[in-house]
Amino acid sequence: MAEPVQPAAVVIGLPTDAASSFERGAAKGPSAIRAALHSPSSNLMTEGGLDLAADPRWRDLGDLDLPKSRTGGGEARRTAIERAIAAQTSAGSKVLSLGGDHSITYSVLRGMQRPSGAPKGLTVVQIDAHPDLYDQFEGDRFSHACPFARIMEEGLAARLIQIGIRTANAHQREQAERFGVESPPRRSWLDLDALAIEPPVYLSIDLDGLDPAFAPGVSHPEAGGLSTREVLEVIERLPELAGADIVELNPSRDVRGVAAAAASKLAKEVLGRLLETPVSAGGRPA
Ligand code: MN
Ligand code: MN
Repeated sequence: MAEPVQPAAVVIGLPTDAASSFERGAAKGPSAIRAALHSPSSNLMTEGGLDLAADPRWRDLGDLDLPKSRTGGGEARRTAIERAIAAQTSAGSKVLSLGGDHSITYSVLRGMQRPSGAPKGLTVVQIDAHPDLYDQFEGDRFSHACPFARIMEEGLAARLIQIGIRTANAHQREQAERFGVESPPRRSWLDLDALAIEPPVYLSIDLDGLDPAFAPGVSHPEAGGLSTREVLEVIERLPELAGADIVELNPSRDVRGVAAAAASKLAKEVLGRLLETPVSAGGRPA
């Protein structure tokens, strides 16, 4: 028997919405994305012609078992995510995390950069209607409105580029300035060449960055967002991806699975990109 090969990329579901400020439901996101991925209404081909159904280089590890309480268990939840991501990074796998609310990204980035040999100097590209830069939200510093403040404070991103932002208030603008966050104006959302992005890149896709017409199943729909095709263009044009997440799908708000199907489409293309080239990561010799 050949030894099982560590996959180049893994999918991990992070079914938590305990840090959501408004409405719960994102905990059911990973299972809804998987259902759309495996629905016979489509297939597992990427647009570039990679057949993910037949590709042995990736594996879906299922959902992480996370504490569900909204009032307690926050630290246990964050630690569990961080450990799971660190284990995969150490083993040499890139991770696509399926949320879950956007609070998970902080723990994912911590986990990803904990092992020695993990990619350093990450550029984080965030697609979102919201900056998620609050110092705290309703007393919670780990709310899904805050992850990118924590990420910048801890130096988990060398550069943070936000695309699709359309709700920034005075506090969030101040925070963006304080952390040096780059948030191109609407007319430049797709002007990636001007941003001169260097690898490695971590891509965090909050589905409310898309227009609600393309992704109605989110807790904080905000009109005027990106089309699915525009997000696919971002995925295609970024340099080498070291990891990614797709968050904030709330199936209870979805309309006939439209957002789940969009999330599944993005997941396929992101996986295709993760499988393209290995970031030199991990403790395992090649
Ligand atoms: Mn967000
Ligand atoms: Mn958002």
